[in-house]
Amino acid sequence: MQVLVIGAGVVGLAIARTAALAGHDVTVAEATGGIGNGVSSRNSEVVHGGLYYPTNSLRARHCVRGRRMLYEFCRSHGVAYRKCGKLVVATNGAELAKVETIKRQGETNGVEGLEMIGGNAARVLEAELSCIGALLSPESGIVDSHGYMRALWGELEDRGGMIAFATPVERLTYRGSRWHVRFGGRDAGEIDFDAVVNSAGLGAQALARRIDGYPADKVPRLVLAKGNYFSFTGRPVFSRLVYPTPVDGGLGVHVTLDLAGRMRFGPDVEWIKEESYSVDASRADSFYARIRNYWPGLPDASLVPDYCGIRPKLTGPGEPAADFMIVGPNAHGMPRLVNLFGIESPGLTSSLSIAEDVVQQLN
Ligand SMILES: Cc1cc2nc3c(=O)[nH]c(=O)nc-3n(C[C@H](O)[C@H](O)[C@H](O)COP(=O)(O)OP(=O)(O)OC[C@H]3O[C@@H](n4cnc5c(N)ncnc54)[C@H](O)[C@@H]3O)c2cc1C
Repeated sequence: MQVLVIGAGVVGLAIARTAALAGHDVTVAEATGGIGNGVSSRNSEVVHGGLYYPTNSLRARHCVRGRRMLYEFCRSHGVAYRKCGKLVVATNGAELAKVETIKRQGETNGVEGLEMIGGNAARVLEAELSCIGALLSPESGIVDSHGYMRALWGELEDRGGMIAFATPVERLTYRGSRWHVRFGGRDAGEIDFDAVVNSAGLGAQALARRIDGYPADKVPRLVLAKGNYFSFTGRPVFSRLVYPTPVDGGLGVHVTLDLAGRMRFGPDVEWIKEESYSVDASRADSFYARIRNYWPGLPDASLVPDYCGIRPKLTGPGEPAADFMIVGPNAHGMPRLVNLFGIESPGLTSSLSIAEDVVQQLN
């Protein structure tokens, strides 16, 4: 089939590569001038274990399976990663109960090697940590997400696929058993494809509304939740990822490491109405307070505003977290079309598993 994948983020690239490996003739249309310019360039680069997500949810299934596939892909394609492990820490009795619940959920989801440890054992691992207990997840890690996306792009091209940059998709119409696609940009025009995947991230809902005849009730609402990061200006003190217990809308302000060993904190949750990528320096106050719950030694004036990312959520403040929405022909009735909505965390970790699922739905 001639397959069009819309969006060259990590999920679109994984789908395009998987479709090319399955023998399809694949084109990716990307509105901007490069790969990974959307949500995929603004995350924590954490390979998640798969602890938190409800039993049998798409997030649970794709995160656990996608993590195993991602580590294997990194090994076989020379992409840098480090399985550094992660601690989810409890600083009081109520949090300890929450962490134990997270462990049980993780085990139900099939996460390997989970272990509850006491405060002293946690301090043997991370001397600066203050907690009464912690969940150790040895399978969690970090990955060079741009190296990963470049490797996906390379494999796509090796199989004859290509990416058309600066090519926003404007309209999709199903006629004469093919998808008629209208592009804008420099080389505006119209081309027919056999199959289409909408993996446009924050633009997925707007694009779905431009599919002629697509059922309006199959386009969920889009809720934007900004996640701000602050970088730490001193010498890093942790060698593992350190997470507090989750908060409404996110996993809590956690210690994130990059492959160079640098340490930063975030993302918090700031509900916003419109896309904006500035980081408000005054939010540092709440970061100090939250981080000192588990790292009392955080020095004053050591945090500086870094970057932020925007989560494409499907539910708002106070509402239960939504699952990924991967809507194929069986759900919406239009042939060889898959729309992806709400692919927030753990979308990077899940990308290869989501890709297999989507390509199967196209057949
Ligand atoms: C703050 C934050 C932290 C996160 N941390 C993690 C983490 O540590 N681990 C993890 O597993 N996941 C994490 N995630 C989730 C992960 O980053 C996303 O799930 C993933 O990047 C989504 O990729 P995508 O390809 O769906 O979207 P995107 O990367 O946004 O790609 C969509 C692309 O579509 C293009 N596009 C839009 N409209 C059109 C159109 N009409 N025509 C053509 N192109 C179009 C855009 O330009 C964009 O390049 C985090 C997310 C956020 C926001």
